[in-house]
Amino acid sequence: MIHDFNYLRASTVKEVLDLIDKHKDDYKIICGGQSLLILMRQGLVAPEYLIDIKNIEELDYIKFDKKKGLKIGATTTHRKIEKSALIKKRYNVLVGMEENLASVQTRNWGTIGGNLAHADPAGDPGPVFIAMNATVKIANKERVRTLQLEEFFIDYFETALEDDELLLEVQIPVIPPKTAIAYEKFNIIKNDQGIVSVGASITIGEDGLSCKEARVVLGAAAPIPMRAKKAEQVLLGKKLNDRLLDKVGEKASEEADPVDDIHATEAYRRHLVKVLTKRMVKKAWDQARALT
Ligand SMILES: Cc1cc2nc3c(=O)[nH]c(=O)nc-3n(C[C@H](O)[C@H](O)[C@H](O)COP(=O)(O)OP(=O)(O)OC[C@H]3O[C@@H](n4cnc5c(N)ncnc54)[C@H](O)[C@@H]3O)c2cc1C
Repeated sequence: MIHDFNYLRASTVKEVLDLIDKHKDDYKIICGGQSLLILMRQGLVAPEYLIDIKNIEELDYIKFDKKKGLKIGATTTHRKIEKSALIKKRYNVLVGMEENLASVQTRNWGTIGGNLAHADPAGDPGPVFIAMNATVKIANKERVRTLQLEEFFIDYFETALEDDELLLEVQIPVIPPKTAIAYEKFNIIKNDQGIVSVGASITIGEDGLSCKEARVVLGAAAPIPMRAKKAEQVLLGKKLNDRLLDKVGEKASEEADPVDDIHATEAYRRHLVKVLTKRMVKKAWDQARALT
């Protein structure tokens, strides 16, 4: 049963920040409600004030600048990202990620800001955005700040957002030359949340063969989307071969911190991390080499 609450609706960022400031002791932001309403129905969350930001048009955008990269406003829906011609052309990995995220109905209403702020360790955008070196823009009534997305996630369903802060935007830099990004999740039911997911970004060096930069990010394999930094180290300066792929998969599997739950055992998740890491590193590597 959903507890009674006072419903407030904001149409501008200024309005919502004023409302948050006024009710900061006991409120929740609602956008698409795809995650929040489940928690409210289960009685896990019972705010006195619900502040609806779904109609804030100034946060509903996808913009690209050749120097600054991509900016996606917090109230932009998953479906809009999936269908964006701009994203398809310049950040195509996000199209594949979105196509496999939930059902069309959920993607039509659920937003990118809601997904990140909910901080479900099995969320899809987190790992792929971190592989792309994303930052987030956050504001309260007094100030605006930016934060690396990898520092935004603190724990299960917990973020670095202060009680009075709103997530405004996710920012993704221009993809560096000779760089490709791959992302895949393993799930049992199509479009359901992943049992494990892996995002990898590979930059090929001047020789056209060796790895200059690498990011390997694990989803649903720890309390937060986590970079497997030891696995990344294995790749730096090396040329790709089967032994290297085995080693990077092993390292990522060791670094992961997965749980045992009704969906999968810890051991199975570690196995999946190994397999998906190898697969995503190889995919990103091959795509990056094809660009050289
Ligand atoms: C059936 C189903 C399947 C799903 N499958 C997947 C999946 O495969 N992969 C995946 O990644 N996700 C999945 N999801 C989750 C879905 O992507 C998210 O529910 C959705 O993106 C959340 O957006 P929302 O706008 O509905 O957020 P809401 O539910 O409105 O809010 C979620 C949380 O974020 C907070 N919040 C929202 N916007 C802001 C903001 N701008 N600033 C600060 N706090 C904010 C709210 O207070 C709340 O705590 C699934 C959800 C459902 C219902």
